Amino acid sequence: MSAKIRLYVDHPLGAGQSVPLTREQAHYLFGVMRQSVGGQVALFNGRDGEWLAEVAEAGKRGGALTCVAQSKPLQLPPDLWLLFAPIKKARTDFIVEKAAEMGAARIMPVQTEFTNSERIRQDRLQAHAVEAAEQCGGTFVPEVSDLTRLDKVLDVWPDGRQLMFCDEAEVGSALGLAGQDGRAPWAILIGPEGGFSARERSRLTGLPFTHVVSLGPRILRADTAAVAALTMWQQALGDWA
Ligand code: SAH
Repeated sequence: MSAKIRLYVDHPLGAGQSVPLTREQAHYLFGVMRQSVGGQVALFNGRDGEWLAEVAEAGKRGGALTCVAQSKPLQLPPDLWLLFAPIKKARTDFIVEKAAEMGAARIMPVQTEFTNSERIRQDRLQAHAVEAAEQCGGTFVPEVSDLTRLDKVLDVWPDGRQLMFCDEAEVGSALGLAGQDGRAPWAILIGPEGGFSARERSRLTGLPFTHVVSLGPRILRADTAAVAALTMWQQALGDWA
């Protein structure tokens, strides 16, 4: 049995478990999607896989579902972080949505020297990641971090994590991911519209965990570059095989 509507809930899921709905979820299910008592919904919380649930109570401002049976096990993405410099709002939203669809485990907006945007709305970006997981059938939701300076992220870089540094200075070179270890934890780094500064490039290339990579013979916009890099990594080292 499968349900068409998928909903992320921040609540434990298990056989017979009752799951209360927020006002927004009740509005969506009963107002927009016209569900009523007995209707079926697929639920996931990022931890317990996907559960088929039935509407037990339907109200204007709330309601409750009861979990019937697990419909999918939890499927974790590879341990891959996407670090990117936020750009204009709609394009940043796009990057977060696509990163969640493509199977990033964590999404980290980083402030680089040439990053224009000083602030992000972490809560809005997290909501985009949830929506993307709802849409794409995922059972996991990547965490979106707050904006952090790239230097600070590098200062506390975790042992063993490899960094795929997408450097526009390598446009047209053949540097790729051949021979790299897909079992290691990884991160991808995408710069802003202005690219990386000389200082950033020299720090990054001096780090033992950095792997400089080219995304082909054309300079891509940051949002395109993020999707291309995720594709390239998934194809070479990720869970596409
Ligand atoms: N203004 C810069 C381009 C920035 S593109 C210039 O003209 O040189 C935004 C980001 O996308 C870059 O920082 C890089 O991370 C990535 N990118 C775009 N095209 C790339 C390519 N061909 N190879 C590697 N990285 C690329």
